Amino acid sequence: MLDSKALQSIPLIPANTADPAPEYPWPKPYRSAMFLSFDVDAESAWTSKDAVHAQRLITMSYGGYEARVGTPKLLELLDQLDLKATFFVTGWSVDAHPAMAESILKAGHEIGHHGYHHLLPDPGDPWIEEELERGFEALKRRLGVRPTGYRAPYGEFTEELRVALVRHGIVYTSSFRDDVRPYRHRLADGKLGTIELPVTASYDDWMHGLSARFSPRSIFPKEHVLSIWKDELDETRDWGAMVTTVLHPQCSGRPMRLRLLREFLTYAKSCPDLWITTGEKIAENFLRHEAANR
Ligand SMILES: [Zn+2]
Repeated sequence: MLDSKALQSIPLIPANTADPAPEYPWPKPYRSAMFLSFDVDAESAWTSKDAVHAQRLITMSYGGYEARVGTPKLLELLDQLDLKATFFVTGWSVDAHPAMAESILKAGHEIGHHGYHHLLPDPGDPWIEEELERGFEALKRRLGVRPTGYRAPYGEFTEELRVALVRHGIVYTSSFRDDVRPYRHRLADGKLGTIELPVTASYDDWMHGLSARFSPRSIFPKEHVLSIWKDELDETRDWGAMVTTVLHPQCSGRPMRLRLLREFLTYAKSCPDLWITTGEKIAENFLRHEAANR
């Protein structure tokens, strides 16, 4: 609610006080980067909006597609293209679909933290710490993985979450929309936060390709989305910057979306200046240059 008291509570400083993204080179021979990443929410994409969705079986079936078809098909495509990616998997998905989660790990991809129940982190939420701990616990118990990367469910963040992630040893996050190069977060108390690998809505497949009863929108054809993705990529390459994909197996694992992704990734692979890689690798490169410049 906006009243004068609420307006007075808006601080007169930028929400993000991080230093500008440092200029450092990508590993030779590359001059730009693509953080190839997927968000595996499965049914938790839906139950996180409303727990009653667990009883709405068709709504749940959108998420269920991920384990039955979407993820296997995407793993097959990545194998064909010889690409490694990061999969941010919710703890719930790992517990409900252990075979799917294991197949991602077995294929050699990086596993990232994506919450447990995929709950939207909002100011004052009492479950931020519990969601983090349960997510870590599920990834450890089922996969033996301690993730270094985190992407927020629904891409929302709070200061409490930024602080908690540092405390839990998360090295990089990938949710903010305010840059085209990696940068280091600065927390409200002035201390350094995680490395941010920024994202953009252009590369969120859900925006252009998934429509459901509780998430209705127009679906765009391959030509439109390819045009968006290629333009964003080519301009980013000219800038020497990076793009981050935010792809969901329940969307990009559908036949015509997979065809679109195959075409886009085949094009991306044909760009000799473009480093297509995982978040872990981009964060490691950042750390190397940060240490060298200290
Ligand atoms: Zn998600």
